[in-house]
Amino acid sequence: MKISVLSMFPELFDSYRQSPVFKRAVERELVEASFLDVKSFAGGSFRHIDDSPFGGGLGMIMRAEPLYKALQSVRSEKSHVVLLSPKGQPYTQKRARELSQMEDLIFVCGHYEGIDKRFENLCDEMTSAGDYVLTGGEIPCMMVMDSIVRLLDGALRKGATEDESHENGLLEYPQYTKPSVWRGSEVPPVLLSGNHAEIRKWKTLSSLLETRRLRPDLFEKHKLTEEEKNLLKEYDKEQDKN
Ligand code: SAM
Repeated sequence: MKISVLSMFPELFDSYRQSPVFKRAVERELVEASFLDVKSFAGGSFRHIDDSPFGGGLGMIMRAEPLYKALQSVRSEKSHVVLLSPKGQPYTQKRARELSQMEDLIFVCGHYEGIDKRFENLCDEMTSAGDYVLTGGEIPCMMVMDSIVRLLDGALRKGATEDESHENGLLEYPQYTKPSVWRGSEVPPVLLSGNHAEIRKWKTLSSLLETRRLRPDLFEKHKLTEEEKNLLKEYDKEQDKN
């Protein structure tokens, strides 16, 4: 996968580029990434990247032309251009899966009061980190990139992402590691039993309970399988007895 990032501050990506999963994906040639400084496409000694808004208003707007030139320098027929914006669709794991299938992604990071609308119109989609406003698009861009790169075949161990939260509309079951008793708190005994069938049932039920407790909105949307219905029924019956 080719990833190009258009940013006023590409140096903000320096430490992310050193993170183990991203670095490994580059070393294994799963990703070829470039980080372009849009200021270098502005021309002139002042590298004039922004200007005041027509119609008045506080703050500055990123000009369309430098962004256009930067985009043209990397765009191909296969490119899919994602503009990070609080006006975009809220990002999800489902979208991460879809984007991870693309060959050529270009991310555009805004700043100031945003970007000239005429440039926005050249982008294929607007993606939001959530319903709040950040100073720039770099942090949401790293968030989106990270969620995609870890899904590429060979970036993580096979199967590592299968049971994860949001993969099947539920949250992941709770996880524990050594010691089995920590400050008086014990790991659920079934996890130490070596009984794989029982462990799998425990994981299924715990994932359902965790979702019901922490994200009732997701739980409501989830279509329960027969096995899930039975596990929950048994659990709720036991709880009623106690
Ligand atoms: N004035 C804009 C508005 O009210 O919609 C907000 C501009 S924001 C201060 C500057 C840049 O940060 C945006 O162009 C975008 O690239 C990025 N940004 C801010 N919040 C974001 C979010 N929730 N998701 C994705 N990008 C965001």
